[in-house]
Amino acid sequence: MDIKMLSLQDRLMSRFLRYAAVTTQSKSGTETVPSTPGQWDLAHLLMKDIAELGVTDITIDEHAVVVGRLPTRLPEGHAPVPAVGWVTHMDTVDVGMSPDVHPVVIRNYQGGDICQNEEKQLFISVKEHPELLKYIGQDLIVSDGTSVLGADDKAAVANIVVALEVLAEHPEVPHGEIYICFVPDEEIGLCGAKSMDLSRLPVEFAYTIDCCEQGELVYRTFNAANVTLQITGVTAHPMSSKNNVVNPILIATDFINLLDRGVTPEHTEKTEGFFWVTGIEGNQLNTTVKMLIRDHDRAKYLAKKEYLKACTEMMKIRHPKAKLSLSIQDDYGNINDAITPENRKCVEYLFRAMESLDIVPLDIAMRGGTDGSFISTKGIPTPNYFTGAHNFHSSCEFMPMGAVENSCRMTLKLIELITNG
Ligand SMILES: [Zn+2]
Repeated sequence: MDIKMLSLQDRLMSRFLRYAAVTTQSKSGTETVPSTPGQWDLAHLLMKDIAELGVTDITIDEHAVVVGRLPTRLPEGHAPVPAVGWVTHMDTVDVGMSPDVHPVVIRNYQGGDICQNEEKQLFISVKEHPELLKYIGQDLIVSDGTSVLGADDKAAVANIVVALEVLAEHPEVPHGEIYICFVPDEEIGLCGAKSMDLSRLPVEFAYTIDCCEQGELVYRTFNAANVTLQITGVTAHPMSSKNNVVNPILIATDFINLLDRGVTPEHTEKTEGFFWVTGIEGNQLNTTVKMLIRDHDRAKYLAKKEYLKACTEMMKIRHPKAKLSLSIQDDYGNINDAITPENRKCVEYLFRAMESLDIVPLDIAMRGGTDGSFISTKGIPTPNYFTGAHNFHSSCEFMPMGAVENSCRMTLKLIELITNG
């Protein structure tokens, strides 16, 4: 397959700008999935776009999760090829900036600070972002400084649509069955992926394209749980408080003091896990403590859950008149725990694709999770690779088009490698 370099970059840029123009910032604390109406608009636009590229059986559910299938195209007698999926998210993150994105295209970047917004005097400075200098001579896309760029994850949405476009234009290129899936609300707790009926995705494995710099690949993520501890005490007038009042706020602080102060986000790195006390709210009768548990290592993750249960039992003994109830909800899992000797090839294909494209792999143990971290726990191993963009969740997010092109070449190379077995 010979795809002209410029044409691939042009296609990626124009697709990205088309999707960035639809406002899809997700909103946490909303009852519905999707959390914002713009995500419906993008879902419908994408349904139309992929229908023009040979994708069939396109469906959308009540949560705006779009799934389509590109049918197998193999010469007679070809060995069977596993069905594979691509999952990308349609929402952009809310970090307190404008939900509307106004991309700015910088042609042939020559180094130096980038002016995003003349009027508001907003810049991406080389001093703060020396990574810019890697991309001298490339075209860049930045935001106008009032919002994120939303390359997370619309660079990926554009990537998969352009890959479909290339396949549609090259009928000589063989491939197996490919499922395309667009989900909403990734940024607010993987809500779109969690709401999805995964029987719509009958694949052996899948990929997300949802990390940053060229070369990044992720199949190791946290195991994650959300924890709520509810404490009810006893309240009384000071006249009769002695030997009577049980203060739930003090029980909450006793509980928190049982946690190792070295096992917090601020004292851990790489694959180390932690407890994160994220909220405490209370009065003299009721107090609620919110916490997160994170750990790459499944055994240590389970031990952390057990430790919180033991702490709760201890508090019950120490404060027999108090009522304590602990709830621990699994949120997502380490993708690596879904990798078996039989399906390990989904990760190996990533390394092989990078090798054949001369991309140096950056194998990251991610201190977080992706849609794939949830989907993997449901039996579809779903590793993740780079979009090529930098500085997700920031007004300094930018897309160097050479790296974005290489991400799309990864997609096409993966399809080739999977087809050839
Ligand atoms: Zn993302």
